[in-house]
Amino acid sequence: MSKQNHSLETRLAQAGHTIDPNTGAVTPPIHLSTTYARNENYDLLGDFIYSRYQNPTFLPAEELLTELEGGAEALLFASGMAGICAVFETLSSGDHIVAPQVMYHGAQDWLRRISKQRNIGLTLFDQSKPDALRNAIVPGKTRIVWIESPVNPTWDIIDIAEAAKTAHEFEAELMVDCTVSPPVTTRALSLGADVVFHSATKYLAGHSDVLAGALITRELNDRWENIKQVRKYTGAIIGPFQAWLLLRGMRTLALRFERASENAMKIAKHFEHHAAVEQVLYPGLENHVNHSIAAKQMTNGFGGMLSMLILADEQKTQKIATRLKCFISATSLGGVESLVEHRASVEGPHSIVPRNLLRFSIGIESASDLIADLEQALEKL
Ligand SMILES: *Cc1c(COP(=O)(O)O)cnc(C)c1O
Repeated sequence: MSKQNHSLETRLAQAGHTIDPNTGAVTPPIHLSTTYARNENYDLLGDFIYSRYQNPTFLPAEELLTELEGGAEALLFASGMAGICAVFETLSSGDHIVAPQVMYHGAQDWLRRISKQRNIGLTLFDQSKPDALRNAIVPGKTRIVWIESPVNPTWDIIDIAEAAKTAHEFEAELMVDCTVSPPVTTRALSLGADVVFHSATKYLAGHSDVLAGALITRELNDRWENIKQVRKYTGAIIGPFQAWLLLRGMRTLALRFERASENAMKIAKHFEHHAAVEQVLYPGLENHVNHSIAAKQMTNGFGGMLSMLILADEQKTQKIATRLKCFISATSLGGVESLVEHRASVEGPHSIVPRNLLRFSIGIESASDLIADLEQALEKL
């Protein structure tokens, strides 16, 4: 049976297990060499020249991502932000970008910065209003529509297939940040997206010990070639050890995501009507405003990201985060351990995130331990 016919779970579990003919080693080696030798005819011995261009250690991870997303090619980066910067480096003065009002704040800060410094137009649309994306597009100028779904940290859902149709109508490309909705549940390219982005630091690597970014394209075109050049010249490349850890982490992606989704659903349902909670924001809840779209494009679990609006002011909301004992009070998401964060205080002056919102990254621990921990922290409100 060819590996191509294997299900996604099998391909993930056996990722990179090529078996070295010389040693029988099951897991792949880490190539630390920065340079690659030539033979007596001055031909390169292999496909490699210099590690800033390409490194054999990250190719299996790129190939796996290409397969998982059903794309033409994938590129790994030193971090998620390095990948995002490479995308927007391909724009010219006078071009225009459309992005959501609420999104990963680091990426939005970067868009504001290039918009100011490089004469690139930027329109932020209200992701909760159906026609807002269309109205944000400037015909003939908008080159990239950048969306995220679910949107961090309110977990609003943007309809990827609709957004693709709208972007393409105006000859713009649709790029989707799928960091919180990895390819075990969402395959954005098959919904019409042109490029999928992941902060591989999060679910893909999954253990809070690797910084990495990934872009996967539906087709090879000029922009993609340009993005590759940017990675090469800026050296925004992933290190061999990080690439190896990423591949190792991805072997358990299906299991981790399934467990995190189950845990988050239990927690969302448990606290939905809690006396200290104004609202639980989780796309898996049937009363979530975009639940039906979420169900359509997250076909195998709604993930571990949820937020709660606490019936309290900012100070008391923060206090709850400090009272949690099983959750770690720290930024980031998608790891095996559960984290809590008061998002408004880390996002800075542009943030429109409610001051009473706590963001939770639900891990793979026992759901009852997490629920008990939240109960004790909320009880003292
Ligand atoms: C973390 C994150 C990023 C940035 O990725 P880094 O790996 O931290 O550079 C981008 N988008 C989302 C949704 C993220 O959560």
